[in-house]
Amino acid sequence: TRTPFVAGNWKMHKTIAEAEAFVSGALPLVGAIDDVQIGVCVPFPSIQAVVDSTRGSSLQVYAQNVHWAEQGAYTGEVSVAMLDELEVAGVVVGHSERRQFFGETDADLRKKLPVILAAGLEPIFCVGETEEQREAGETERVLRHQVQEGLHDVADGDLAKVTIAYEPIWAIGTGKVATPEQAQEACAFVRALVAARDAEQGEQVRIQYGGSVKPENAAELLALPDVDGALVGGAALDPASFAAIVEAA
Ligand code: 13P
Repeated sequence: TRTPFVAGNWKMHKTIAEAEAFVSGALPLVGAIDDVQIGVCVPFPSIQAVVDSTRGSSLQVYAQNVHWAEQGAYTGEVSVAMLDELEVAGVVVGHSERRQFFGETDADLRKKLPVILAAGLEPIFCVGETEEQREAGETERVLRHQVQEGLHDVADGDLAKVTIAYEPIWAIGTGKVATPEQAQEACAFVRALVAARDAEQGEQVRIQYGGSVKPENAAELLALPDVDGALVGGAALDPASFAAIVEAA
């Protein structure tokens, strides 16, 4: 009953012209698919162009970050109202690259999720452990902390409006994909954390796997019982490869 959700995270790739070329290539392949939710997470400068060129199609547009404040002295940041005005479907928050390279904290995420939901936008909330944490047997402790902190101020009845992306950091951009057993175990654990707050929301919440998803491994990962989709980096930059992953869902 959970609709699969495949999103391509472009990260810091694609100029406006390159983004438009992607859309031209992708729309004939995925633009009419209606049994999978499909999104691209686009750098701020190309959002308007991609929203315009995908309007009326099933390809939805997401931003890659947002600030929690309504407005203010936060140089370089973008507010929820600014994104809402662009008619994006939602926004990625807490990507490990933002946590690692830009100092984003669980406390920031705790403030971001409620304001995103209040605006009617869909958050894709990323969690995941480092290789050292996995080797030290700390995966569940880390996931529990990230999920409990990030979702702390989301009302129980709104939990399933959040899509949670489980992205083990050691699998991101490394070609080292989680085994199906590892992906299933972690995604089931994340679902149980949501279900502990509200059983029905736990049943409904979508959990994506992310980390070296490719057309060759997508079908196996997406067939796992607690994996409801994928958050795809490198393999989502090319329309044909992105479409192949969507078709595997
Ligand atoms: P890769 O698919 O390139 O490993 O990136 C995963 C990711 O971080 C998506 O947000």
